[in-house]
Amino acid sequence: MNLKSRIAPTPSGYLHLGNAFNFLLTWWLVRQSKGVLQLRIDDVDAPRIQPEYLNDVFYTLEWLGIDWDEGPFSAEQHRKEFSMQLRLPEYRAHLLYLIEQNVVYACTCSRSDVAKGLSCNCVKKHKTALPQKKFAYKMKTDNAVTSYTDGWSGYQTAILHEVMPNFVVWRNDNLPAYQLFSVIEDNRSGVNAIVRGEDLLHTTAAQLFLADKLGMQSFHQVQFYHHPLLTDSNGSKLSKSAGSLSLKNIRESGQSAQQVLQSFSNWLKLKTPVCQAKELLDISINVVCF
Ligand SMILES: [Zn+2]
Repeated sequence: MNLKSRIAPTPSGYLHLGNAFNFLLTWWLVRQSKGVLQLRIDDVDAPRIQPEYLNDVFYTLEWLGIDWDEGPFSAEQHRKEFSMQLRLPEYRAHLLYLIEQNVVYACTCSRSDVAKGLSCNCVKKHKTALPQKKFAYKMKTDNAVTSYTDGWSGYQTAILHEVMPNFVVWRNDNLPAYQLFSVIEDNRSGVNAIVRGEDLLHTTAAQLFLADKLGMQSFHQVQFYHHPLLTDSNGSKLSKSAGSLSLKNIRESGQSAQQVLQSFSNWLKLKTPVCQAKELLDISINVVCF
């Protein structure tokens, strides 16, 4: 099958090694299937997006030797044609649909309520929900079992209400939450394969549930591939806050893309280590997650 997938960086910081490994795996999977790769830049959170982070996405992908077929090919084109800021009315229309279907509720908890650790009882307080700017909206999850077969890790099952109860679909700063805009974008693009870290297993369950409520049945045709996370020497997950592992810092310390590809090879225990992305096209990769 020809896969269609996407790499979806958030330009709220410099890309790090974990991003690079996810992008390389996605690129390899799509190119092996002679499929289509989309670049999707998740810039909903405008105040946190900086021009240098956006430029870093394009620079880093080229540096790694990753090419793509759809989406923006420059920061300027992204801002003019692809920015999620241009699609906020569409995301809001989907929120209104969820409100109409009575599958979400307004959460009026304040920041200080959350900071104090007060538990949210809004699902009991707000039987109906009118859209107002200051409210977050949360899904009403239930005890239904969500299941799917992961392309690398096999059968997965979760009771969503236990792993991500009443997850947020609209933030109280009047922006769509990741779960909502990501499902809408993947559905619009006709993506049929999603490659993500194993830390997002619950997210996948939540998105399958949400897609049902949005009436996007074809989302169930998406093949998910979860991969292990890159960890530091203490076994902790790498994040953007681990600034020393940003690819920008790696470049500035004199390391080459070739060295990143070698680390990638070690991470996946490749029998034939590679020095360039294009060498991945000649090998098979056995991704073992759990
Ligand atoms: Zn609440």
